[in-house]
Order: sequence, then C-alpha cells, then structure tokens
Amino acid sequence: MSNESLSDKEKIRYSRQLMLKEVGFDGQKKLKKAKVLIIGIGGLGCPAALYLAASGIGELTLVDNDKVELTNLQRQILYKINHLGQNKTLAAKKILASLNNEITINIVNEKLSETNVEALINSADIVLDCSDNFTTRYLVNHYCVSLKKVLISAAAIATQGQLMVFDNRQQGLGCYQCLFEPSQQQAALNCENSGVLSPLLGVMGTMQATQTLNYILGHMNSNQFISFNALTFEQKKISFSANPDCDIC
Ligand SMILES: [Zn+2]
Repeated sequence: MSNESLSDKEKIRYSRQLMLKEVGFDGQKKLKKAKVLIIGIGGLGCPAALYLAASGIGELTLVDNDKVELTNLQRQILYKINHLGQNKTLAAKKILASLNNEITINIVNEKLSETNVEALINSADIVLDCSDNFTTRYLVNHYCVSLKKVLISAAAIATQGQLMVFDNRQQGLGCYQCLFEPSQQQAALNCENSGVLSPLLGVMGTMQATQTLNYILGHMNSNQFISFNALTFEQKKISFSANPDCDIC
C-alpha cells in the first residue's frame, strides 16, 4: 500500500480520528508518513509508543538496551510477566505489532551513544526523549539542535511530571540545555532512587504522544515547559527563551 493513500482497513481503523477536522484524511496520511524516534522504552516510552502505534504513526524506532525486570511492571505498561529477562525493544515490538500490524516498528537494542545518535536522530522527523538520565538527555538535545529536529522531552519523579517541547527547526528559541544547565544538576534523581507514582508516567508519556500528533498535524505549542503535580492536579505552563550562555544552541 502506498504511503500516499489509506486502505479501506485503515479508513475503518482510524475512523474516529478521520472524523476530526483537526485530523481528517490529510492529517491521517501525514501520521502515516511520519517517522518517530523514541529513546527509552520505559515508563514514558511505553505509553507514548502505544498511543503513537494506535494512532497510526507510520514508522516508530525504539531505542533501549535494557531487559525487562519485575520492578518495571509497576509502570512500564507494554511488558508482561512472560517478558521478564527479554530485551525491552523486542518485547515492546511484539506488543505494538499485535496492536497495529500496518505500521513499521524498528528496534535498536543499543544504548544511545556518540556512535549511533547522529544517524538515529537524522533519520527521524521527530524525537521523543523518554530516557531517565541527564547524560542521554544532553546527548539527545545536542543532536536535535544540530540536526534541527523537534524534541519532545518528559520526566517524572515521585509525584511530579515535566513536559518540554523544543522546536529546533528555528534558531534562538532555546533548547533543553538552556533550561537545565549541566553545572546546576545534582546527582540525577530517577525512579530507581526516588520512586514514582505509576499512572503519572502514563500521563506524561501520553502528553508526549499528544504533542507528537500536534506537531505532525501542525498544531504544535512549541517552546513550552509544563509541570504537572499528580497529587494536586496543578498544571503550570511556562514559556521559556534561549539562554545566551548556552553552549549548544
Ligand atoms: Zn540552549
């Protein structure tokens, strides 16, 4: 089936989206043509990938080198008991393909590094940072800025979530490193050392998927920082600008 059209089966599968004036046939075809790179298939990457696969993103590339552990099952919703010990990328691909067999799912069972980052980001239309450490986030940011790719980044620790959308196609709007200067980062908090409320990752990963669709469909709200408190349900939206001292952008 050509990327230029939708099959009868696709018209039925995506009918509830085709009905929306914000999507329609043209929008659904844009989703079908889109290539999305997801870095980290953990608490954020799982819900993001599920919704992107379900909504008909034509090509997903999943990058992760971890294996499924019992502690992951509290929040990494693609994985089941029978996946314990398996590579996350392979287990994720099986589940996503069983949801939608009309899309392409590429898996890269490697840690993101200087060796593979440029080629991976270069081949994507849009990048989702679903990782859990600053080393990866800075690396992803660096290459998204230099290759002018839109970056949708999220994080969740304990009961607090953050979502950031960076439109690197334009210069001067500010990047991840403008917001989080390396010199100010203390030892990274993560789910392993601080814990996290399970559905908060669903909220934040689903927001990343929603912003991905917004970008592809031309409705993106870029260069915003959103913080979400899972206890009070308070959501704050802050616009940010470039840090003139940033080394990256
Ligand atoms: Zn910057």
